[in-house]
Amino acid sequence: MKYKSILLFGAPGSGKGSQGKILAAIPGFYHSSTGDIFRSLDLQSDMGRTFWEYSSRGELVPDEFTINVWKNYIKGMEMINQFHPETELLVLDGIPRNLKQAKLLEDTIEVVKVIYLVCADMSKMVERLRRRALKENRIDDANDKVIKNRLEVYERNTKPLLEFYPADKIARIDATMSQFKVLHSIIDLLVPVKDELDRQHEESEKPAAPSTRREPATAAAAK
Ligand code: ADP
Repeated sequence: MKYKSILLFGAPGSGKGSQGKILAAIPGFYHSSTGDIFRSLDLQSDMGRTFWEYSSRGELVPDEFTINVWKNYIKGMEMINQFHPETELLVLDGIPRNLKQAKLLEDTIEVVKVIYLVCADMSKMVERLRRRALKENRIDDANDKVIKNRLEVYERNTKPLLEFYPADKIARIDATMSQFKVLHSIIDLLVPVKDELDRQHEESEKPAAPSTRREPATAAAAK
């Protein structure tokens, strides 16, 4: 079974992580942020070093490596009963980040909605990233050169991914509104999606209707 997923999409600083964390607190949603997964790696390990090597320059971590780490992580979460794909919508934050990743994930996820946090004014994103650097001690946000590179990587590699999804699955939300208003818009969009997942789950749980056909006589009864 593929994981039914919502993709939070937008530039670094557009608020994907903040909104994802709020959604994670609502029963029926499971938030998965690749940035958070990567940051939890031990920086002394080979995996941790690979992440550091790329993220400190504002580059994307190589695709196969990223997808491998993520698939192992999410399978692990399912196995230890943290993520329940039959009843929970997976909220993807930061993955897939380019076309190659989307293709590598096709066997695992079914994207039912893309929530595109649009920001027309990039200077607002840069401001948010600078503030985040101070608040969350994120070195990749602390340096203007790295921030600039991340925004360029987004424009060049991530944004074209929008073409991969059918237009009717993409919902645009103005990311410069207050967090609360963005949340309101996201929830409005997700209510029917969640209702549908619940309906499908209920359907699959229903006992099969009793058969009206008469059972053929068994060999023993026939004797
Ligand atoms: P932001 O959304 O602000 O760019 P993230 O926390 O999502 O920050 O990611 C931090 C860093 O982790 C990225 O700059 C990149 O190096 C790496 N990363 C996260 N997700 C991916 C991904 N899907 N593919 C490749 N690298 C990723």
